[in-house]
Parts: sequence; structure tokens; C-alpha cells
Amino acid sequence: MQLYKEQKIQLYNTLSGKKETFQPIEDGYVGMYVCGPTVYSNVHLGNVRTFMSFDMIFRYLKHLGYKVRYVRNITDAGHLENDADVGEDKITKKARLEQIEPMEVVQRYTVDFHNVLKTFNFLPPSIEPTATGHIIEQIELIKTIIDNGFGYVVNGSVYFDVHKFNETNDYGKLSKRNLEDLIHNTRALDGQSDKKNPQDFALWKRAEPQHIMRWPSPWSDGFPGWHLECTAMSTKYLGDNFDIHGGGMDLKFPHHECEIAQSEAAKGQTPVNYWMHANMLQLNGQRMSKSTGNTVNPDELLSGNNKFFSKAYAPSVIRFFNAQSSYRSVLDLTDDGLQASEKGFHRLMDAMHLLEDLKPGKSSTFNVAEWRQKCYDAMNDDFNSPILIAHLFEAAKQVNQIKAGAASLTAEDLELLKQTMHAFTFDVLGLVNATETGSGTEKLAGAVELLIQLRQEARANKDFALSDKIRDELAAKGIQLNDGKDGTTFSF
Ligand code: AMP
Ligand code: ZN
Repeated sequence: MQLYKEQKIQLYNTLSGKKETFQPIEDGYVGMYVCGPTVYSNVHLGNVRTFMSFDMIFRYLKHLGYKVRYVRNITDAGHLENDADVGEDKITKKARLEQIEPMEVVQRYTVDFHNVLKTFNFLPPSIEPTATGHIIEQIELIKTIIDNGFGYVVNGSVYFDVHKFNETNDYGKLSKRNLEDLIHNTRALDGQSDKKNPQDFALWKRAEPQHIMRWPSPWSDGFPGWHLECTAMSTKYLGDNFDIHGGGMDLKFPHHECEIAQSEAAKGQTPVNYWMHANMLQLNGQRMSKSTGNTVNPDELLSGNNKFFSKAYAPSVIRFFNAQSSYRSVLDLTDDGLQASEKGFHRLMDAMHLLEDLKPGKSSTFNVAEWRQKCYDAMNDDFNSPILIAHLFEAAKQVNQIKAGAASLTAEDLELLKQTMHAFTFDVLGLVNATETGSGTEKLAGAVELLIQLRQEARANKDFALSDKIRDELAAKGIQLNDGKDGTTFSF
């Protein structure tokens, strides 16, 4: 029997504002769409956190035996600098600044994104569609929205009529806003004079002469609106009504609100049953964000080459750190937090090693079946990974006690413990055993620590020639030692 028949998930649906029992449209199958990156710069750890949370959710659904079609797009056109349909296209701007083709920008940062995903042991999505590969679908969708009376054309651009839509539908139901408040709070920006109302949003924009990323359409040579891309791609591969739509919290409004409006206007039905939003990663108490420059990129944290953290951390330590808080909580990236996670991660991995050679006893002193169900209960409760980790630590404690002869498990219970620990640690949390990956970096870090210690001893003995030699030769190999008031740290 498939596990999903006995394990019922409760998930927090942003649309209803409460936890609901997850009931897929088709028994045993799940359709899930997550907004992918706009590929105009390297992904930062904030982006990684959101995708990592959905990777864990994807992994758990698969673990339960669901057949999941997971669609995560690449936004390679149409995302303007400002949410209100003004400003330059992010990719075109980058191409202009770097004097390269927009598609070179797209290629460079798509490759970077894929490398990052590989480093962090992400499972690939089932389909990874690009916006530029679905222009025809988007044009068709716009035609339907216009035919249904919810879109209007001005000077070659097409806008969605939010006021008209709100007469029959509820614009703002996802983000808990209402049109009256929006009217009150939106300022008409320069360049928006084409719109009937500032709350309307672009479905298609006529391209200015210098805009390279342009396609022919019935209205003008132009490009699609960002919100429209996700509606076209999600419904194409998952149907007009599908199970789960996810993304970061910041996409709730206007992006997801507009996706709902477009689908309801075009297809007469709401697109998504469960809306899930991952919370933000912070650095120094402020949201990590490209626009404010408050970011750390994965390679900076993995190499230790940054101004915020004292050392390098392995990818699985970062995954573990992320899983130690709920995907719905704000998470602050700190050195102390990462160090604590590193210790915890190693404690868990040590137990996984010990578990391999444990010998069974005559009786069980620990109720494995009950513990196993607690692990499922944690994940069934809106993917509560911190509680799951607490249960994994409880098992790790038991493993240590069995090793010390202070507890025992029958062969059958021991096998169940092993299977369950493996499933949750590796398959669901996506951690990789320290001896397999990350080990190179970690072993190197250990060796550098040893050299730092020898250098300190050399200094204490006034052997400055040796201490300088250690520093200089490490620097020549690209490893910098930084002497501070609390001792020496390194980066590479
Ligand atoms: P973007 O490429 O800007 O569209 O962002 C890609 C994804 O990363 C979206 O789902 C965003 O919501 C998410 N994201 C951006 N900043 C953060 C952050 N600081 N913490 C978590 N997720 C973020
Ligand atoms: Zn999207």
C-alpha cells in the first residue's frame, strides 16, 4: 500500500489562511508549480532557501508514493524592474550593462542556477519550461482574456482590467487586499498613462525600438507580462485547475494575485487549490535581496570567502540549517546558527555511521513504530521539518545508547529504525553523508586549522620565518589567513 493512503498531510493554504487536509484532484497524483528564478543575476541564498523548501516538499510527496509532476519555470523575458509595469526589462538591462546579448545573460545565469541546485543536491523538476519557449501560448491566453472582456489594448500594449474583473470576481483574495484600499494606496507612476487605472497590469507590452527581446503579436512587436508567463506555463502542463502553487512570500502580491485573476478571466475557474508561500531568509536582520545588495551567494558561503561568516560551510550543513526552521518562518542567516547546525549535522551523521554496524538484541527498549509515526506526523503537519529533526536526534540518542550497551532493539526494530532514518535523512531532507560530499572542503578546512595552530606555535617560539612561510605559502595557494582579535580565521 502506498504511504499516502495512511499519512494525511495538513498544509497551510495561503488562500484560506488555515491548515487544510491535502486532497489531490486525482488520487495518487500531485501537480505542483513553483515560480522559478529570473535569470539576470547569480542566485543568492535567499532564492536558494525558497527552492530548497519546495525541494523538500517535492521529496516528501514522492516519498509518500505520490506521482508528482513538478513544474518550475525559468523566467527569461518580460520581468520588469518595477512591479507596476514600468522600468527596463531586468535581462535586457543586464545585457546592456555588460554589452552582451540578452540570451547570453539568460544562458550564463541559467547555468549558474543549475550548478547551485546540483551543489545542494536538489532533485530536478519534472518540467522546466522557459517563458520565451511559450510565447504562442501566452498570445492565445491574452486573446481569450480580451474576448472575455477583461483585457484592453492601448498603443500596442494589452492590459488586464482589474476593476472590471472585480465586479464579478474577488481581486485580492489571496493577499487579503481589497480594491478600495489598493485604489487608495497606489500612486499613478510616470509612463502608466496608457492604463485605464493604475491597478491594471500588463499582459503584453509594446517594445520600444531598442528593446531586443521582442516577438510579433496581433497588437505589436513586444513581449509578454511576467504574471502571464506563469499562468500560461502552469496551466499548459498541469491543467486549468491543479493542486499546489508555490513561491516566496514576496510573490503573493501582485504576481500570484494576478495569476489567479488571469486564469479566472480566461478559463472561468480558479487555477490552484493550495497556495503555498515560503518565508524569507534574512541577513543581519534584513531580508536578503538583490535590489538592496544585502546578499550572500552560495559560493561565497561554501568557500568562506565573504565578509559575514568566519568559515566555510558544507552544502549539507546549509540544507540542515534551512530544515531546522519551518519553511513558513523567517530565518536569519548567522554564523552562530550555522555553527550550531554544523555540530547538529555531524551528530546526526555520526549516528548514521554507527547505525550501520549495530547488533540486534533480544528485546527492544525503544518503541520504533511509535517513533516512526512521530516522524511522519511532523512532516504531515505542514512539513514541519524542525520537529522531524528533533525526532531524528531522539533516534540518534538511542543509537548511541545501543552502541554503549545501555539500550537494545530486536533485529526487526533495528531494520525499521535504519530504513526510517535513511528515508528521512537522505530522501526527504536531501542531506548527503559528510564522507561522500562536502568532505573535500571539510577535510581541507581541518588541514588549514592545523596549519593555523602550527603557525601560532611558531609565533610563540618567535620563529617568525616559519609563521610567515605558512601564511605566504597558503596565500599562494589561494587560502587567506586573517588575524583578528579573537584569533585567526581563513577563507578560500
Ligand atoms: P526572483 O528570481 O527574484 O523571482 O526570485 C526567485 C525566488 O526566490 C522567488 O520565489 C522569491 O520569492 C524567492 N526569494 C527572493 N528573495 C528571497 C529571500 N530573501 N528569502 C527567501 N526567498 C527569496
Ligand atoms: Zn510565477
